[in-house]
Amino acid sequence: MRKEEKKILLQTKKTNVETDMRLVCQFIERVLHYVAYSKRTRFNINDFKKNFMGQGVDWFIRYKAVRGGLSNLFKLKQEDRKALHLAFQGDIKFFTYLERLNYKLKFPDLPNCVKKVAKPFFEALYDDILGGSTGFRMNGLSVPQLRRVHVRKGYFEANKKTNGYFNPVCPACLGEIAVTEKDGYADLDHYLTKSIYPTLSISPDNLIPLCKTCNENIKGAQDPLKNYPKKGGLLNIFFPYHRPGIDSITVEINQRDPDEKFMVVTVKGKESESIRVENFEALFQLNERWSGKINSSLYETVRAHIISEFIDGEELLTETSVRKKLNKMYTAEMRIRSTVPDSYLLAQYINILTVSSDKFVGFYKDITETIELELKEGCL
Ligand SMILES: [Zn+2]
Repeated sequence: MRKEEKKILLQTKKTNVETDMRLVCQFIERVLHYVAYSKRTRFNINDFKKNFMGQGVDWFIRYKAVRGGLSNLFKLKQEDRKALHLAFQGDIKFFTYLERLNYKLKFPDLPNCVKKVAKPFFEALYDDILGGSTGFRMNGLSVPQLRRVHVRKGYFEANKKTNGYFNPVCPACLGEIAVTEKDGYADLDHYLTKSIYPTLSISPDNLIPLCKTCNENIKGAQDPLKNYPKKGGLLNIFFPYHRPGIDSITVEINQRDPDEKFMVVTVKGKESESIRVENFEALFQLNERWSGKINSSLYETVRAHIISEFIDGEELLTETSVRKKLNKMYTAEMRIRSTVPDSYLLAQYINILTVSSDKFVGFYKDITETIELELKEGCL
């Protein structure tokens, strides 16, 4: 049996407004169904109102970009409208088919004439409504106007620490998500880019807050499925909420360089996942970003911690006692890796210090000399 697949790198919970987002997606599906099966060749406001009466969605067509979007959808041939509806219906459930060899997202394969008119419609839904000041309104939603800020805040609410505090760990790089009220509680990444997969632009399974560096500077609009346009492509990537990569990777040090460099590699015995690791690395460039943190801060943090343990404690300084303290520190850092930025990297670095005998010897020498010096100075 497969090991339980915990759910980018970290397993996190979906936003608290997940149900609201699903209701919105169902509404969009009903709108696309209405467009697909209407015999009309032009959009008719009264007919729309009649069809959606009592659902609390009257505002929808008062919105210019949406009305324009719907009018354009009505210009499509009926078979194309049906194909668009089917694509939305299939794409929105993608997360239930992640393991299927014969599944693929349908929107990218729709005829260009359909994509050209459908994209602005989806863009209006996300950018102008969810992301704008309007927000989604309909019967049954838990907030009067569902906006992007609810999605972000709801994510941090769902993933807060056990002590109730904000959890600032970026699920992709495990660094810090710096949150200010000004940026509306972090960037929201469409893991599968909305320009290529607009059907997923309001899917709670595809939206995840990331740190600014990950979202804007590194991943940007890269398509995780770029190299996998065929059926079963989703098998080759880690996925937020559904297929996290943290247990599939391990970190090694590249010894050939004069500067130490981290290398993210697949955990031994999980060869099948190496392709996912490779893709993740290509998307988020962890090797380079994580390497930057070794020489500057990680070594110093470990060193300072172990030295203080000996200076403050009674224990005799021996190789065995140093190893014991390193192991204890490793376990403690691993325990908080999902809630404290960079603790995972710190733990991995401690692990490297412990298993590599060269590194351990150097580390031991360094702290022994420092501690002896400090004790001597203290006695004077
Ligand atoms: Zn990040």
